Amino acid sequence: MTAALYAARANLRPLVITGRQPGGLLTTTTVVENYPGFPEGIDGHELMTRMQKQAERFGARIRSGSVEAVDLSSQPFGLTVEGEEVRSETIIIATGASHRHLGLKSEHLLENKGVTYCATCDGALPLFRNQPLVVVGGGDSACEEAMYLTRFGSMVHLVHRRDTLRASIIMAERALANPKITPVWDSVVTEVLDLKAGKVTGVRLKNVKTNTESVLDCSGVFVAIGHIPNTQIFKGVLDMDENGYIIPKRGTATNVPGVFVAGDCADHVYRQAVTAAGLGCAAAIDVERYLAARNE
Ligand SMILES: Cc1cc2nc3c(=O)[nH]c(=O)nc-3n(C[C@H](O)[C@H](O)[C@H](O)COP(=O)(O)OP(=O)(O)OC[C@H]3O[C@@H](n4cnc5c(N)ncnc54)[C@H](O)[C@@H]3O)c2cc1C
Repeated sequence: MTAALYAARANLRPLVITGRQPGGLLTTTTVVENYPGFPEGIDGHELMTRMQKQAERFGARIRSGSVEAVDLSSQPFGLTVEGEEVRSETIIIATGASHRHLGLKSEHLLENKGVTYCATCDGALPLFRNQPLVVVGGGDSACEEAMYLTRFGSMVHLVHRRDTLRASIIMAERALANPKITPVWDSVVTEVLDLKAGKVTGVRLKNVKTNTESVLDCSGVFVAIGHIPNTQIFKGVLDMDENGYIIPKRGTATNVPGVFVAGDCADHVYRQAVTAAGLGCAAAIDVERYLAARNE
């Protein structure tokens, strides 16, 4: 939406193709407390509705539907949107990244009621303050989330299905040295409790070596088992890292001239609304300069 706002104000008449989740990931959260300009916080859906209105005010056009295929072999580029072809001189890809789920029904039903996928976003919420928390995962993200959460929770249980962390040595050592982090090895979450209470009160665990079950009390479950960037349709055409994140070249430009990238689909480090918006702004400015240089 920020890319659309900047491109619209530069008279580029951008077309925003919304995909299956118009407004993006923020529409799945209730309160956003760290987007600058909203000291009382703002509902995620409301924030995205406002951004869309702001972009539309300057001429951005919004089209629902998902891009199913792209032809980046020549300009104008071709995009197939639900069977129809759309052509454009330039493209800004801002398809985001989906978080991996545990795949439990109870996880899904208690999302935003104690189950979350982002410690930076939700860790400071009153719900989690001075409460025991669970982080699920064993990689760098899980360690980072666990360390961040020690500022708020009374205790952080790091539940991992193996008996050693997959994270880099330095991150793993730091996490394990933290007195507020307790590792729970060889364990998987089989259920998030308590659906009847309508909020998280604990997790049911299974030890994968002994097959024994136990219940761990907690008020929050932070799932940190990775993200999948929504970049499959660009595979083989755009340069990506081994996890599928698009690698920008200069600024937001990709290896295909005229194709730019912004937000979480190119950012496995920060993954915040404000950084995504910042990159959207940068991409629109890069597009504008690219077109100006081409038309000189
Ligand atoms: C529960 C939750 C709470 C969060 N809370 C905060 C917070 O408090 N503060 C914060 O800063 N960040 C928060 N985040 C992170 C923030 O939502 C993301 O960093 C931000 O939304 C990334 O923006 P984006 O535009 O890159 O991607 P997204 O928001 O993921 O948007 C991607 C868009 O691309 C579309 N799309 C995908 N594939 C296609 C396709 N093939 N064709 C057409 N369209 C497509 C999708 O429909 C979607 O509209 C939270 C995330 C989650 C999950």
